[in-house]
Amino acid sequence: MASTTAAATTKIDKSKPFFPLAGLANDGWSTEDEATATCFCGAVQLSFPIHGPGFVGSFVCNCSDCHKLTASMHASNFTIMDTHLKHLRGQENLKKFGQSKTVFYKEAGKDNTMTNYFCNTCGSLMYRVGAAFPGMSILRLGSVDDFSLMETALRPTMEQFTKNRVSWKQPTEGTTQFYEDGLHV
Ligand SMILES: [Zn+2]
Ligand SMILES: [Zn+2]
Repeated sequence: MASTTAAATTKIDKSKPFFPLAGLANDGWSTEDEATATCFCGAVQLSFPIHGPGFVGSFVCNCSDCHKLTASMHASNFTIMDTHLKHLRGQENLKKFGQSKTVFYKEAGKDNTMTNYFCNTCGSLMYRVGAAFPGMSILRLGSVDDFSLMETALRPTMEQFTKNRVSWKQPTEGTTQFYEDGLHV
């Protein structure tokens, strides 16, 4: 029984690529420059750069949209320039839903619609595209296949809308805190 206990408490070395069983696809990958993000059922797979210039940044957002969209308390996002985002498969399987009523970023006379792209099979949100943020897509850290990247290259450096953060959640370690929008400061 001692060996079982040892296995259960073995620490995962997150400094190396780590692909746990997560969803039905098992063909995610990462290199020094790029990595994949895959939906829960495996129909949709993206690849993206994990550093600049195509990688813009990684952040935690507590805004009310992120509550609803994740059905949780916050979203962990990262932004990729569209010139560097590749759809490896399933682009035709993405379903769009967009609206502007709840979107925080409003500039008079400008379209602020945020459009969300979901896998039509399993419902995973793959990215958001904002009319106010042309040329980029906001991906989901949780859909990245190599979990070690959440600790390293893709680790969030900013947390925004802390005003909407639930009282039982701590500030995200190592992030710059913004009471509201941190993307435009
Ligand atoms: Zn899917
Ligand atoms: Zn948000």
